[in-house]
Amino acid sequence: MNDRLYNKTVICPVCSEKIEVTRVKSRACKVVSRDSDFCVHYQDINPLLYEVWVCGNCGYAALEDKFESIGDKAAKQVAENISSHWKKRSFTGERNIDNAIEAFKLALYALQVTKARASEIAKVCLRLAWLYRLKNDSREEEFLKFALENYLETFEKEKFPVDKMDESTCMYIIAELNRRIGNFGEAVKWFSRIIASPEARKNRMLMEYTREQYQLTKEQIAATKE
Ligand SMILES: [Zn+2]
Repeated sequence: MNDRLYNKTVICPVCSEKIEVTRVKSRACKVVSRDSDFCVHYQDINPLLYEVWVCGNCGYAALEDKFESIGDKAAKQVAENISSHWKKRSFTGERNIDNAIEAFKLALYALQVTKARASEIAKVCLRLAWLYRLKNDSREEEFLKFALENYLETFEKEKFPVDKMDESTCMYIIAELNRRIGNFGEAVKWFSRIIASPEARKNRMLMEYTREQYQLTKEQIAATKE
């Protein structure tokens, strides 16, 4: 195996099998750039590819920080709806983008069958969009739209902070995803809302991003009118 990767043994909370999951040594990750929707680009190895753990024995998959904390009821739903027609296979070891997309789609499936919160679905969909972006695949937009729908639901229904994300950051993602899929009017509305928010003003980095992307959206609107 690639020497920047290592395996870790965990117990699958759905089938109780001892499984091996692959992780990236944090020292191995070198950031090259960050996109305006927080997608990080790395030199060589990309830790995003390993963020979803999959149990090859039962088909349960989740983001690594959520994998072990699935509740009893959700575990039962996974066993009934996923494991019952799962063919055993290994997800351990080095991944390419396609393997990672498959793992993230399994995680999305597990969230759907367990009726997880919109914020969890949004997080996985946004990462799927990033993986398609790394491949220059137009399916990126499909998952940006999916993520946007779920971030909107998160904003309306969940109590912040949601999994370390504060309300201003959620508004920013909604604005930026609208811009990326070409809903410039909506993007302007949300960017303006952030600029007017006293809470968001406390986050300097977010305000910087907001001003830049707001300006860019206005330029994009002007360009469509030319
Ligand atoms: Zn399992």
